[in-house]
Amino acid sequence: MKVIGTPHIPLLVRLEEPTSGRRGQGGALFEVAMRIIGSIHDMQQAALDLKRQGKRIAFVPTMGFLHEGHASLLREGRTRGDLLVLSIFVNPIQFGPTEDLDRYPRNLEGDCAIARECGVDIVFTPTAAEMYPPGFQTSIRVRDLALPLCGASRPGHFDGVATVVTKLCNIVQPDVALFGNKDFQQLAIIRRMVADLSLPVEIVGMPIVRETDGLAMSSRNSYLSPAERASALCLSRAILLARERYAAGERSAAALLAAARDLILAEPTAVIDYLEIRDASTLEPVDTVNDPALLALAVKIGMTRLIDNTVLGDEP
Ligand code: AMP
Repeated sequence: MKVIGTPHIPLLVRLEEPTSGRRGQGGALFEVAMRIIGSIHDMQQAALDLKRQGKRIAFVPTMGFLHEGHASLLREGRTRGDLLVLSIFVNPIQFGPTEDLDRYPRNLEGDCAIARECGVDIVFTPTAAEMYPPGFQTSIRVRDLALPLCGASRPGHFDGVATVVTKLCNIVQPDVALFGNKDFQQLAIIRRMVADLSLPVEIVGMPIVRETDGLAMSSRNSYLSPAERASALCLSRAILLARERYAAGERSAAALLAAARDLILAEPTAVIDYLEIRDASTLEPVDTVNDPALLALAVKIGMTRLIDNTVLGDEP
């Protein structure tokens, strides 16, 4: 694989070894070259050309450092479009001033290997300088859905997400875009935004992919020391406990949250950022879980803030 451009932000990568084969109709194996495009103009032109040819574009936006959670979106995306586009962009405008933008993990080579395995046709890796040139001043805000939970802890975060997703969709021109339920509030906001702005893209939500011991996969798990990795299990265990109590008939949000909170607080290194139960559609608080309700939590393990969630009353 030959990289043209800076080592960190290649403008173009030409694949000199064949990419993983895909089976076409009749089972014939054919080689597909994966393109890496760094410029907005080139990506938009490629997308417009493909659309003119009547191709259906499936899109998975990510911040890279791919894991099996991202791969599940890519594999599903592969089945939903003629062309599969993956974007890798650590979006600076969704990070607060004290957050981990600078140390967010990056590994383009590894990401490309996973992308090839998942049948990605185009990897789009724009630079922040091109995405947000001097003078950039437009922002998309989804109001109420962005207020609680991560929106309360990370002011401006969802404006950054909504803005970049809109911009990426205008560049990539997807017919369908896939997002993980891992970021449940983000997905709710994107669905709302797409409906409100009549964006011509179908949004598909995908289940949370977990490690075998239950930890939700996340690029940020790479920050965890072995001891912190063990402590981080308190998130998924708290969810499991609340689900068990719910299955046993408990419907009081306060009781379900108390059980989850006690389990987390038994972990000395864990600091709860939020732990809440809210209506799964409106994200309004609920006292009694009658309709499907989101149990969502953000917990700091050492310096690392992790999120996880489950929907009570909506069997996975
Ligand atoms: P990120 O790179 O963290 O911005 O995530 C890109 C996309 O992958 C988002 O739609 C996430 O919700 C999704 N994603 C991240 N982790 C997981 C996971 N463990 N399971 C399913 N989807 C995930």
